[in-house]
Amino acid sequence: MDRRPIAYEVDPARLTDLLPDEPPYRADQLREWLYEHPVLDPEAMTNLPASLRHELKNRIWPFRLEIEQTADSGATRKWLFRAPDGASIEAVLMGYKRRTTLCISSQAGCAMACTFCATGQFGFERHLTAGEMVAQVAYANAILSDRPLPGSPGRVTNVVFMGMGEPLANYENLRASLHRMIDVTDMAARAVTVSTVGVVPGIRRLADEPWQVGLAISLHAADDELRTSLIPLNRRYPLEELITAAEYFFDRTGRRVSIEWTLMAGVNDTAEQAAGVAAIARRLRAHINVISLNPTPLTPHRRPSQLTVEGFMEQLVRYGANATFRTTRGQEIDAACGQLRVRSSEQKGEQ
Ligand code: SAH
Repeated sequence: MDRRPIAYEVDPARLTDLLPDEPPYRADQLREWLYEHPVLDPEAMTNLPASLRHELKNRIWPFRLEIEQTADSGATRKWLFRAPDGASIEAVLMGYKRRTTLCISSQAGCAMACTFCATGQFGFERHLTAGEMVAQVAYANAILSDRPLPGSPGRVTNVVFMGMGEPLANYENLRASLHRMIDVTDMAARAVTVSTVGVVPGIRRLADEPWQVGLAISLHAADDELRTSLIPLNRRYPLEELITAAEYFFDRTGRRVSIEWTLMAGVNDTAEQAAGVAAIARRLRAHINVISLNPTPLTPHRRPSQLTVEGFMEQLVRYGANATFRTTRGQEIDAACGQLRVRSSEQKGEQ
């Protein structure tokens, strides 16, 4: 087996290690191809000598594409990548008028075991490396330069860590991937959003980093009893601690956090919960993003009726919160929030 390093797995400041027999400027050229103008095949790295391009064959990507699916009339594309050790990595690209947003994974599987999330229901496989995270963005950019989404920017403008995994449970690799996206590539920190179920020490560490990235908190319940029943991690980091950490994040970065609220029928769609989350949002000056549950095979929860959703949104307004109801993308290809991994796992014959 070829044990030579894979380009995206190498720290971009140390690419010379990958090219021991080349003059140092080759590392700069390669860095530009990897991070500024990603291409699928090293053959397209036209300013590198043919022998080097040949040597780099199969040594660029830390995974191979296994499945590509499209939905929403071409505006949504989902990729399932497979790492050499068998780990599956999923990413979803969503085109809007002024934005092309890539939703990336930070772990293969997830250890958080939230009752409504497909990834959590299948358990934890392993952390993704910084290279595997950043390569999802590079891969999307490489594809977009050939095949942009109709009517959307031909480059990833926004990255959200809302795919598989809990990014703040994989902090060092998350940090290294942010460094590469923001400092090595030209992504604006403000265009990157880290979404967390509430890993309090991670929120505080992220607040102390030099980047103004966005933070989304998956709240889903406004009291500890309900939240712990949906999100086991709440036992370790209960609401008050989480809210205090979110306040710290706002103080340090000047960026308002956003609150994610997935509506589940009869669970968190009540007037009481609306009042509770509105109070938290007012305290944090946060915006609430509400979506309806995407039912997953193993979840006991259901999505509420349209009438209930409308009622809940009205309550939020009545209690003085800023909130938006968002429809999800990619439902017919299991690319919607929390649905990743279901189909591919079924194909592998897992439970
Ligand atoms: N672990 C991180 C990021 C991954 S989940 C986090 O929890 O934030 C991304 C978002 O999708 C979270 O807000 C999560 O609560 C939500 N989600 C998970 N399963 C869902 C489902 N079945 N339907 C709708 N949203 C879901």
